Amino acid sequence: MTAHEEGETLVSLTGVNKHYGSLHVLQDINLQVKRGEVVVVIGPSGSGKSTLCRTINRLETIDEGTITIDGKELPAEGRQLAQLRADVGMVFQSFNLFAHKSILDNVTLGPIKVNKQDKAGAEKDAMALLERVGVGKQAPKLPAQLSGGQQQRVAIARALAMKPKVMLFDEPTSALDPEMINEVLDVMVQLAKDGMTMIVVTHEMGFARKAADRVVFMADGQIVEDAEPEEFFTNPKSSRAKDFLSKLL
Ligand code: ADP
Ligand code: MG
Repeated sequence: MTAHEEGETLVSLTGVNKHYGSLHVLQDINLQVKRGEVVVVIGPSGSGKSTLCRTINRLETIDEGTITIDGKELPAEGRQLAQLRADVGMVFQSFNLFAHKSILDNVTLGPIKVNKQDKAGAEKDAMALLERVGVGKQAPKLPAQLSGGQQQRVAIARALAMKPKVMLFDEPTSALDPEMINEVLDVMVQLAKDGMTMIVVTHEMGFARKAADRVVFMADGQIVEDAEPEEFFTNPKSSRAKDFLSKLL
């Protein structure tokens, strides 16, 4: 926390508004994330958490406001967008690995195609990343030969292979069997310790307590609370947050 106080802002959302028809899904969102900071986003289903994530790398457009990554505003489209998008790694609930490609190829594809890295270098880096997330031995296999927890760790390695400045996780453990949740959370905790800037949508409060610098609580498209984890969990201010937490415990 204190370590980041002086840090520069890496991700900035200012006055962001978005509608889906008559639904005001993001309402005046202001969120600043500093380099190296870990922000956990929680809130009821339908509160706009996934939409928030998707706007940060322009998988969704916004109606109003500004989003910058490392000081640069996201362009609406084109080559510049592809470059800026590479700064933002994303891990989803469903792992979305390429089913007919090996684990190794899943990780090297982006670096070779998008970052124009040579194959040998990409494979060396990919192996190091796969080892780091504990699935080095699985490199020649196909995704279906791996457990869900292993596939999600590959998805994390694949995102890291692009050398992103920030990693977004949207409920990365929600689709996993309970016994596999911790092996993925452990990788995320280590990533946080290594200094990665992370925005993590999760209901895993253990992770929030262990790794988060801040907890952002969303409800009905608004950021209702933004506090340090201890403060948020022990002394939530809004009735919405109190109600949400009481149902979790
Ligand atoms: P959360 O991730 O917090 O559960 P979402 O961001 O997925 O919430 O959704 C927020 C609201 O926006 C929900 O009411 C959802 O039904 C609606 N929504 C999400 N995506 C779309 C879409 N593509 N078109 C219309 N409505 C959408
Ligand atoms: Mg969601």
